[in-house]
Amino acid sequence: MTEQRFTDKVAIVTGSAQGIGKGVALRLAREGATVVVADYNLAGAQQTADEITAQGGQAWAYQVNIGEAAQSKQMVADVVAKFGQINILVNNAGVAQTIPMMDVSEADWDRVIDINQRGMFFCLQAVAAQMIRQIPEDERAASAPADIAGVQKGATASSDKPVRNHGKIVSLSSISGRRGRPLSTAYAASKAAVISITQSAALALAPYNITANAVCPGIVPTDMWKQIDADRGKLFGSQPGEAMASFINLVPLKRASTPDDVAGAIAFLCSSDADYITGQALNVDGGYEMN
Ligand code: NAD
Repeated sequence: MTEQRFTDKVAIVTGSAQGIGKGVALRLAREGATVVVADYNLAGAQQTADEITAQGGQAWAYQVNIGEAAQSKQMVADVVAKFGQINILVNNAGVAQTIPMMDVSEADWDRVIDINQRGMFFCLQAVAAQMIRQIPEDERAASAPADIAGVQKGATASSDKPVRNHGKIVSLSSISGRRGRPLSTAYAASKAAVISITQSAALALAPYNITANAVCPGIVPTDMWKQIDADRGKLFGSQPGEAMASFINLVPLKRASTPDDVAGAIAFLCSSDADYITGQALNVDGGYEMN
């Protein structure tokens, strides 16, 4: 029987109609979480939710465009109305783009940044606000927020007090968050921002014992990568699969990632085994990047 690390937990996984997000939703549900399958593709979200329920899990398909901050806020309110709490956010929804840097227009830039960076941040903020509201009164008093310099009033260095985790947030960065990409400038910028936002969130939310981490996948052959492969084919005349194969050639483990490779790392970061890990960006890329 699969380990049940997320019994009684409610998880929102954005962008889980397909690809990596779907793998994450299935994985968390298999381990006992009630999963909100949040995506702007409602039909796809419903399919993921149906697969989860067919396997005996609990899921709710929810339509949201995380590019609109108000929709993320509404999603939080609706999930709390339905399930009473939110314990896990996997901030996965994202879009890619293959355009040579000198051709990127303002509209191209905004399309990627509005979802991957701005939307990702406001979704995180809306969920974190709910996680803070859920902290019981007596525990909240001990969780005084840090001041602007990051100094917590009345802090002591004791480690003998058991502390309960009040939420886990994992956001999808990328190997493209680790270095520049001349064919995906806005995408790489947005994924570097995910790492920075994760670090800020880890610091802002540490007083509440809410952790925030990121994962940086490598090459996962989802629809996103199929599009990248096709776009590169148009730019350089390569055959279908050639661009992906050339990237995979640079992966020390010499294979593409499966969604489950990424889901496994995310499930770990959402589990109590990772209670003392926050502000980190974990490469899940077969060794492609090493820092
Ligand atoms: P995908 O295109 O297969 O799936 C993305 C999902 O997000 C889709 O279901 C889509 O409908 C949804 N989505 C997009 N914009 C949305 C929005 N504004 N609101 C709600 N839902 C939205 O992509 P994927 O390959 O599964 O990628 C998932 C995440 O992982 C992305 O953040 C991506 O940048 C990141 N990532 C992917 C790879 C890879 O190789 N595929 C590598 C590194 C990082």
